[in-house]
Amino acid sequence: MKITKSKLPRWMHGVYAMFFGYYWFPCPICGKMFGGHEPSGTIWENTGSGEACCINCAKEGERLSKINLGVK
Ligand SMILES: [Zn+2]
Repeated sequence: MKITKSKLPRWMHGVYAMFFGYYWFPCPICGKMFGGHEPSGTIWENTGSGEACCINCAKEGERLSKINLGVK
């Protein structure tokens, strides 16, 4: 299945996420709301846990993860 960028308005994603029990919270990097049903990135902490960020910030999340984990 090909993942295409959704054309749904953001609020509909919010309704969808809440209805199906997914999380719906602001991206820690850009502040845009995104849901657990959408593709996302992860910002890893050196504690072994991570925080999800929106797919638009996945690259930035990767960069921050490397800093957090001390990867050169
Ligand atoms: Zn973001």
